[in-house]
Amino acid sequence: MPTSDRTPEVYAKLGVKPIINAQSWITMLGGSLMRPEVLRAMDEAATAFVDLEELTRAGGQVVARATGSEAGLVVAGASAGNVLMAAAAMTGTDRAKVDQLPDTTGMPNELLMFKGGRNSYDKSFVTAGAKIVEFGSMGGARSYHLEAAINEDTVGLAWVVAPFQNYPFPLEEAIEICHARNIPVLVDAAAEVPPVDNLTRFTKIGADMVTFSGGKGIGGPQNAGLLAGKKDLIDAAFLHMFNLGSGTVGIGRPSKVTKETLVGMTTALELFVESDHEATWAGWRERANHIVGRLTNIPGLHVVLEDGDINRQGPQAVIYQESDWRGPSFAEVRKQLTDGEPSIRVGGGGYKGEINIVLVNVQPGEEVIIADRLEDILRG
Ligand SMILES: *Cc1c(COP(=O)(O)O)cnc(C)c1O
Repeated sequence: MPTSDRTPEVYAKLGVKPIINAQSWITMLGGSLMRPEVLRAMDEAATAFVDLEELTRAGGQVVARATGSEAGLVVAGASAGNVLMAAAAMTGTDRAKVDQLPDTTGMPNELLMFKGGRNSYDKSFVTAGAKIVEFGSMGGARSYHLEAAINEDTVGLAWVVAPFQNYPFPLEEAIEICHARNIPVLVDAAAEVPPVDNLTRFTKIGADMVTFSGGKGIGGPQNAGLLAGKKDLIDAAFLHMFNLGSGTVGIGRPSKVTKETLVGMTTALELFVESDHEATWAGWRERANHIVGRLTNIPGLHVVLEDGDINRQGPQAVIYQESDWRGPSFAEVRKQLTDGEPSIRVGGGGYKGEINIVLVNVQPGEEVIIADRLEDILRG
């Protein structure tokens, strides 16, 4: 049954209505839905006490294996991963420095970022006390801009990989430059999975640490994520999570990972890695095709299936407006979709103000509801 055909009791009690999420793994729309196996694992985890340090280390090994990294950690999302990467790069495993954060007096704290690659999430890189130092211009940068920006206060290069993100040059080249100067490279690849190969890709090319959201394409708890990388840096991140025996909590305490979240995340990760990715993709494509098929031959509109665009998550039904379109503006179409019953949230395009319908979170059957509503609005 489509989610939208029933209101779970817990939401009804709060007076909140479910929506159809055709906009992707958006935090503000609930991230993703966890599989029953994940929910069962979390339920089971909630029935016994464990030593959280021991559990964290065990969960870290699952992350290390899945990412092909020396070490790993389950963290409270990619934003928490960014905080911990920056903190680890500043302090290493020096306990006095770990204690001192977010005060960075007397310690190097500069994280380099490409100016044109600044991103709405990069505040998490400075939360622990680091300072972002930009290199290059909005339009681009050359390798010598990065080289020239490195000095004795540099603790790392922060690199965001995301849809519609700008890159000055390949990450491989940045890694080569930084490694020649002993500067670690920290990668925020929050929403880059699937494809599943991206779990190992950044470690393979030499990134020192990489973080992924757990509650996006991997299907774990929405407040979970993965942090993977070199052992000494992950050891440092671990200290920041707990700061055991120091008398003060670490910089990672506001984003703690519970036993239930950790087990949910490792269960989701293993299920994800083993799942039939082609079948999942084919299901999304079939639902996208249904919508495209229902919206053919509307004068002034160009409706297509887009599959494989690096800036799109999964196969999507995309509606472009042509110059002879006489129907409602796309802002109005979006408003009608949002205000309808059930509320349908669609993507904001990214290229030309198009409407893109993302299928990754559309539950079986909901594609029919979306197509019905769009036909009503667009064929008017
Ligand atoms: C979603 C996202 C984040 C935040 O991830 P959470 O797991 O929600 O904390 C950070 N960076 C990028 C590029 C993202 O897309």
